[in-house]
Amino acid sequence: MTQSITAQILDGKLTSQQLVTSLGEELRMLAASQPVLPKLVVVLVGDDPASQVYVGKKAKMAVKIGMLSEVLTFPAQTSQEELVSVIRKLNADDTVHGILVQLPLPKHINTLDIITTVDPRKDVDGLHPLNLGLLMTGDPSACKPCTPAGVITLLKAYNIPMAGRHAVVLGRSNIVGKPMGMLLLQENATVSYCHSKTADLAAITRQADILVAAVGVPKMVTADFIKPGAVVVDVGINRLDGKLVGDVDFDSAAETASFITPVPGGVGPMTIATLMANTLELYKRRLGIQQ
Ligand code: NDP
Repeated sequence: MTQSITAQILDGKLTSQQLVTSLGEELRMLAASQPVLPKLVVVLVGDDPASQVYVGKKAKMAVKIGMLSEVLTFPAQTSQEELVSVIRKLNADDTVHGILVQLPLPKHINTLDIITTVDPRKDVDGLHPLNLGLLMTGDPSACKPCTPAGVITLLKAYNIPMAGRHAVVLGRSNIVGKPMGMLLLQENATVSYCHSKTADLAAITRQADILVAAVGVPKMVTADFIKPGAVVVDVGINRLDGKLVGDVDFDSAAETASFITPVPGGVGPMTIATLMANTLELYKRRLGIQQ
């Protein structure tokens, strides 16, 4: 069967490359006049293969654009107290500007306690309750969670109008869904959240001008979930039959949507680029460098 893709691709790979190039240039200029370089420390607990890949990509990108980067790895049986003590040391270390604790953490560790231990001024992931609270109040000093902030950057790069549009966010996690809705609201979209208890899900998602899928269910969003001409953003990263797929069934969705993100090459690279942008921003704040 011949596949007819009508949707334009929202190219996260290209857009993220443009973003990191400009961040690298800014960093080079700053480095000439500043005594220290920005440093990102990524904390990885356990041996989840996907997390290892993500952490590797983040650290590599940081070095590529001229930052200092360190990955601290700990065995899966690391205790909560040990991890708290590591984070406190990083909080107190003046050479560290950004701390990222790779999620998910092993089950015996209380994730919220760990996120809350990170100094909010070094919280590059924007997941500390203080930053999420600032985001909620629309305070521009909030460090925004990387994935949803990366989605907004991508939509803006393609001049996708958000004001007055109905945005439906499929998923309500603290890391993606909830902040995604808040950021869309800040862009003056009318926002609906859907989740596993939503009744008649497709009837709601079909009302979306902008549909963001962040459910973690491979290819769940098929063409019948999508209003013709809608913009579809696929946050999902899932493995299916050895292949990386999103939460959207790309082939059918691309025949109905006007714009769509691919997986891979959509939201994933935007997340990493936004992490770099957040690290640079926190570094500048620490050094009192004006925009
Ligand atoms: P979570 O598992 O934390 O949240 C999933 C959300 O989807 C929950 O709100 C859940 O509802 C909802 N959900 C699950 N199943 C269904 C269903 N059948 N119908 C409707 N809603 C459903 O996942 P995350 O938010 O952390 O991640 C979502 C996806 O995004 C994953 O594939 C993850 O790998 C990917 N991801 C990608 C990133 C990137 O950089 N591209 C970064 C982070 C995540 P309920 O709350 O009711 O349980």
